[in-house]
Amino acid sequence: MASAAHTFEENLEAATRHLARFAEAPLPHIIGADTPLSSSGETFANASPIDGGHLADVASGNAADIDAAARAAAAAFDAWSATPGTERKQILHRIADVIAERAHQIAVTECVDTGQAIRFMSSAALRGTENFRFFADQAPGAADGLSLPSADHVNYTTRHPIGPVGVITPWNTPFMLSTWKIAPALAAGCTVVHKPAEWSPLTAQLLADAALEAGLPPGVLNVVHGLGETAGKSLTEHPDIKAIAFVGESATGSHIQAQGAPTLKRVHFELGGKNPVIVFDDADLERALDAVIFMIYSLNGERCTSSSRVLIQESIYEQFTSRIADKMAKVPVGHPLDPNSVIGPLIHSRHLDKVCSYADVAAAEGADVIWGHGWSDAPPGGNWMVPMLFTGARSDMRVAREEIFGPVLTAIAFSDEADATKIANDVPYGLAAYLWTSDVGRAHRVANALDAGMIWVNSQNVRHLPTPFGGTKASGIGRDGGDWSFDFYMETKNISIALDTHNIPKLGG
Ligand code: NAD
Repeated sequence: MASAAHTFEENLEAATRHLARFAEAPLPHIIGADTPLSSSGETFANASPIDGGHLADVASGNAADIDAAARAAAAAFDAWSATPGTERKQILHRIADVIAERAHQIAVTECVDTGQAIRFMSSAALRGTENFRFFADQAPGAADGLSLPSADHVNYTTRHPIGPVGVITPWNTPFMLSTWKIAPALAAGCTVVHKPAEWSPLTAQLLADAALEAGLPPGVLNVVHGLGETAGKSLTEHPDIKAIAFVGESATGSHIQAQGAPTLKRVHFELGGKNPVIVFDDADLERALDAVIFMIYSLNGERCTSSSRVLIQESIYEQFTSRIADKMAKVPVGHPLDPNSVIGPLIHSRHLDKVCSYADVAAAEGADVIWGHGWSDAPPGGNWMVPMLFTGARSDMRVAREEIFGPVLTAIAFSDEADATKIANDVPYGLAAYLWTSDVGRAHRVANALDAGMIWVNSQNVRHLPTPFGGTKASGIGRDGGDWSFDFYMETKNISIALDTHNIPKLGG
């Protein structure tokens, strides 16, 4: 079951077998109990990042398809929201069971669809099961509230699912991210219309298959494929959809906020980042080095929490950047289904062009461009690139400010604590920050001064599901994880019952 145990050949064979269904017939929507194509008959092509080969034709949803899905979600809402939390818990655990059984199928499909390496995608599928199990266990208590008595009233709060919600996901780790949004929504009692990213639509089908086979009633989870500007936009505008959970670019978040304004959508945004990793000269430099490499060259650097800026104290700058360069040169680029590969092809040729263009930007801005090694056997037609390191960068350069979203690291020198904090905060984003020091007081001081939603001290990004996940500034609105997810997917109601002791003003005699 665990993909790490499979050889390259076994992964290739499994991918060929599991992807055949997508080549045979267009990938449909899932609306209620039906699997229709788009009402317009339109499809879009999904290409392999590995060699540009055709993976699937995908139904291209429009406003009418979204309307049908939103109606299905609305029709299913009363029964699902009234289903006891203990029963929702059981169903969500069964979904996790089915995902676990299919972890290898999901992992190889995700690798071929996104270009991400199997060594990471194998755990991405299993993280999906963890998300379902975590929120399954919370389902029975999701409606619980607080007791807030006053002198004359008993006050208590309860929580109620907000209604049908829209979930819009990006292409970078689509399966895991979808479960991260959909599991708490279902646990809360909401019904869902999911609009997966058009560049990596395949595993959304596998998630919906697992959910339906596990006994999730039809209409509780609906999937409409399509482009952001059509299907995505219609979902954010639909009056039956009460909230939008969105993961993607900051600029898209702005569009969604505007599109949802007429229907007063509640929004939750997990957006872009330009996350710093600050390395002080008193840090455990071996561990820091491994974490720096891992957090930018894993997952193709296509990761919202990647540490794409490394801020290094001047006293160790030369030594530390040269060690990064040495390690980067040994990071293997290769076929995503090969267990030895770390970096695979990027998701799309347009994204590849964008990421690679930063080499020229860096050189024009005066930074030094250091190249790693590519894959000499890379198939033609794929979106292959060579990892990069930009040294000698300054905080005002584009390569230090813009989200590149590839295996590209920008190294900046700093003098002291105040300088490090200033540079770290000097970007429009505030998702995550990483800090390496052996000075406990400094760790607290800098962590408090950093303007980001999540700070890791002497660590890479290690998720703990009860903790809040989300960003400040252009990196997002709201938090996920633990009870924070339920605050988003549920309405809090206060019930105030008089003890019949308080004064009621008598007006009119
Ligand atoms: P994107 O914003 O281009 O697309 C994300 C989704 O939004 C897709 O499904 C797309 O079809 C849809 N969309 C596009 N325009 C829309 C519109 N006008 N209305 C409604 N939906 C629309 O993002 P992407 O390129 O797919 O993903 C990469 C981005 O996601 C990066 O910026 C990355 O940092 C971010 N991301 C953030 C997190 C996080 O937790 N903060 C996690 C993963 C990815």
